[in-house]
Amino acid sequence: MSGIDISEDLFTRSWVFIRGVPAMKFLPPEGPPEVAFAGRSNVGKSSLINSLTGQKGLARTSNTPGRTQELNYFVPDGFSGETGDIPPMALVDMPGYGYAQAPKEQVEKWTKLVFDYLRGRATLKRVYVLIDARHGVKKNDEEVFSLLDKAAVSYQIVLTKTDKIKAAGVPRLIDETLAKIRKRPAAFPAVLATSSEKGAGLEELRTAILLAANGG
Ligand code: GDP
Repeated sequence: MSGIDISEDLFTRSWVFIRGVPAMKFLPPEGPPEVAFAGRSNVGKSSLINSLTGQKGLARTSNTPGRTQELNYFVPDGFSGETGDIPPMALVDMPGYGYAQAPKEQVEKWTKLVFDYLRGRATLKRVYVLIDARHGVKKNDEEVFSLLDKAAVSYQIVLTKTDKIKAAGVPRLIDETLAKIRKRPAAFPAVLATSSEKGAGLEELRTAILLAANGG
């Protein structure tokens, strides 16, 4: 496919869930550019996907940690497969990580699915790694950065829940976060700050996503 029309704001359309992927063999055929979201459990990933699309119930919030770990695929409505049309792009909600009580086998399964996906998916254009503004970058986030660097998949950090910290703390947190990724080869050298609750930073993130999907 030769790029999407970013002059059309796809986020004004309604989006639909098309598939939960528990293993690589269940992935939809490669075609549209994909943009994925990763983050520790409870980082606010479902809330952010719902806010971006303006659809409260699209991604399931407060996912029960420990439930089946799947890559969840969303596409703009009208391209869900029945018509055979290729969607202009897909959003992929990756399973949350870092749940302290997760059994070892589950962590291994997560790592395998995610790493296989990161390495094997040519149409994956960008991963947005979400970081809770209250907690900053944790050890398991660093491990995910390393997976992304190793797989050579472009990623950008998005701070979530910025309404929970003082406004003056946001630029400082951005600087601290940038310092942590400076030497990371696949990290995009800018950090976005968002709040799903207040709607902050969503338009910037939408624009970034459309550009990334378009290869920018
Ligand atoms: P997920 O596990 O990463 O999908 O996280 P959820 O989207 O389910 O959010 C986890 C919790 O954080 C929920 O209680 C949300 O209401 C809350 N939350 C998510 N985004 C925000 C935000 O921007 N601001 C605030 N204050 N709370 C948020």
